[in-house]
Amino acid sequence: MPIRNGAEYIQSLRGRDVKVYLFGELVKEPVDHPMIRPSINAVAATYDLANEDPEIASAQSSLSGLSVNRFLHIAESAEDLVNQNRMQRKLGQLTGTCFQRCVGMDALNSLYSTTYEIDQKHGTQYHKRLIEFIKKVQQENLVIGGAMTDVKGDRSLSPSQQPDPDMFVHITKRDANGIYVTGAKAHQTGCINSHWIIIMPTMRLKGEDKDYAIVGAIPVDAKGITYIYGRQSCDTRSMEEGEIDSGNSRFAGQEAMIILDNVFIPNELIFMDGEYEFAAMLVERFTCYHRRSYVCKTGLGDVLIGAAAAIADYNGISSASHIKDKLVEMTHLNETIFAAGIASSFMAHKTASGNWQNDDMLANVCKHNVTRFPYEIGRIAQDIAGGLMVTMPSEKDFRSPSTGPLLEKYLKGRKGVSTENRMRVLRLIENMTLGRNAVGYLTESMHGAGSPQAQRIQIARQMQLEYKKKLAKNLANVTEGEAAELAQENADYFNKIFGNSKKAAK
Ligand SMILES: Cc1cc2nc3c(=O)[nH]c(=O)nc-3n(C[C@H](O)[C@H](O)[C@H](O)COP(=O)(O)OP(=O)(O)OC[C@H]3O[C@@H](n4cnc5c(N)ncnc54)[C@H](O)[C@@H]3O)c2cc1C
Repeated sequence: MPIRNGAEYIQSLRGRDVKVYLFGELVKEPVDHPMIRPSINAVAATYDLANEDPEIASAQSSLSGLSVNRFLHIAESAEDLVNQNRMQRKLGQLTGTCFQRCVGMDALNSLYSTTYEIDQKHGTQYHKRLIEFIKKVQQENLVIGGAMTDVKGDRSLSPSQQPDPDMFVHITKRDANGIYVTGAKAHQTGCINSHWIIIMPTMRLKGEDKDYAIVGAIPVDAKGITYIYGRQSCDTRSMEEGEIDSGNSRFAGQEAMIILDNVFIPNELIFMDGEYEFAAMLVERFTCYHRRSYVCKTGLGDVLIGAAAAIADYNGISSASHIKDKLVEMTHLNETIFAAGIASSFMAHKTASGNWQNDDMLANVCKHNVTRFPYEIGRIAQDIAGGLMVTMPSEKDFRSPSTGPLLEKYLKGRKGVSTENRMRVLRLIENMTLGRNAVGYLTESMHGAGSPQAQRIQIARQMQLEYKKKLAKNLANVTEGEAAELAQENADYFNKIFGNSKKAAK
């Protein structure tokens, strides 16, 4: 029976044997933990949107023949990729946080084309196995986490050069039925909220790194996995009484470290095993999808722009010209991110496997903008909000009979605005620029899908300088190199026949 909606999804997470540590203790039931639950709610929203807006959040899969959640769909056209972006923006608007499913979607799509090409070269069976896996998760409507980033130890050393081999996930042993892997994956978005995790290599590999060239699917509650929950700024506010101080009490993101201790992957769930020369292709295709998936941040940007406009209104400054201009600036930055991302999807091409891959240059430009613009949008939101955003007393003080009436009186905005609503909007801005959801809006924007330098490297690789130099020289009538030699030969020839025209002129 497939999961049909958000409520059934939440139910599907209950009672699993998942070893999650938080504050040094095993969590009995993650679903009921007040700090974890908002992240589960955010994933649940991806199920509900598929029902409410099927045009953008679901798709007809020709693999299973089913109408599936778009997060599980293999892109069959450029339009599918554009709809991914539309869905991502919408979910950002609805949750104001990271809804944790893009990484799985982008992993499935990049693996689809990469496994096809590995099989073409090596005669392996990875593509067929992957299709069977995709059909299964589509039929059951499951959540997939994509685990690419290793802990990496000394960044200047390759996996096989590390003093501790476990700095990158690798094979420890194999038998007739499959392989065993050990290592750790860092910063894993939504991993505990997933049903399956796909582990993938994180960088270009060489022959000596063969044991690190592994891709496989693992159930989240597999034997040998330990999760250590990642802290987020102000996260324990979710554990306090009341909900104003959380800023966004319903939704949050989730990251955890995944530690794999000889975890078994059966043969039928292995999608790369030693083909190290394909690691770079997989990483590049995955990051190409994923860097444009960051248009999700424009949905969060919409929320923050809305919060800034609301607080300006509550404070009685909405008609000031500099406020209007700042809101225009925020919107311009936000739409610039969206423009690059959606253009990348529109400019997609068909891969040899038949699925569609978005444009790499524009994806990298989109993500590079994301490493900067949300910070600027956040800065302007804080400018408009005023200092109260970070000096405001707690909800408990607001509810207290001793201090509540004082706060009610002294934290008023313009006439007709409730003090409580003013506090709520300020807390939301705090949440998105300094609190829990600043993880998703700011630092994830910086490092997720690769730190800024990774995009600059890709942009540099594709900027076609020689071609652009030719364009410029052509218009400037510059002649050099071969063209210059030819020009000289011509000049000599004409001189020989007609003599030096300058001399003749004298
Ligand atoms: C909120 C969040 C969610 C994430 N979710 C996921 C997820 O779901 N799945 C997943 O797989 N990953 C995820 N990531 C990981 C993300 O891809 C990495 O953070 C990113 O690739 C950077 O790696 P790092 O954090 O180890 O930083 P580092 O690699 O340590 O980078 C720090 C700095 O060092 C520089 N640097 C690194 N190596 C070198 C080198 N060899 N030479 C010169 N400079 C170098 C970088 O350019 C950067 O400026 C997430 C990250 C965040 C913050």
